[in-house]
Amino acid sequence: MNATNPAPAHASPPAWQRPAQAVGYVLFLALVILMGRDVVAGIGTFGHGWQLLALLVAGYLAADLLSGVVHFLADNFGSETTPFFGPGFIRPFREHHTNPLGIVSHGFWEANGNNVLVSVPVLAPAAFLLPTRESAWAHLLGSFVLFMMLAVFLTNQFHKWAHMESPPRVVRMLQASGLILSKSHHDVHHTSPHNAHYCITLGIWDPILERTRFFDRLERAMRRWLPGMDPVSRVEREQSAHG
Ligand SMILES: [Zn+2]
Ligand SMILES: [Zn+2]
Repeated sequence: MNATNPAPAHASPPAWQRPAQAVGYVLFLALVILMGRDVVAGIGTFGHGWQLLALLVAGYLAADLLSGVVHFLADNFGSETTPFFGPGFIRPFREHHTNPLGIVSHGFWEANGNNVLVSVPVLAPAAFLLPTRESAWAHLLGSFVLFMMLAVFLTNQFHKWAHMESPPRVVRMLQASGLILSKSHHDVHHTSPHNAHYCITLGIWDPILERTRFFDRLERAMRRWLPGMDPVSRVEREQSAHG
């Protein structure tokens, strides 16, 4: 889609999305408090200090990589009519290419609601099944999962800030210091055909993923080996449609 084409009409969000997100926020907050208490309690029990700092960094980097993989899948596979995932999860990614500034008008709850929904099914088993207070390895694993999912939660907020003309000063400082996704980095994804710089937490994996042609190889393998896949890619389809 180039700049002169009008944005196509998009389906409205499914009716279940807002109520589900409201429930998701309550569950997410409860699970973060539950896990946060276990993680803090375990610090004294197991004497983990620098390990948690290392896991904080690891969790943040893992969330960035995850953001790239999920974004790549949502941009290139399925459609807005795919059952369940289409209207609620694929649609916002596709719509974002034709209306990149739409995200700026989304309030905090709307912008981050989907990330809450994907975080709850990961946090819940970690909160209830891991013996975080009793075992040292479970304390480390639980801490990693908590840090990673907090970063996943913040990802679309960072993404939204990368689209704002003048975000708050502290955000500009974080962007300039390379701690969160910057506007100049993310702008690369918004140049046609939208097949580079998929990571939207920080973007640190993008050069590595592109040098190794990771997503090209993954897409080719998926289209070749997974049943029912369209052999023509989204990028090929868009390029032939625009001559
Ligand atoms: Zn995209
Ligand atoms: Zn964007």
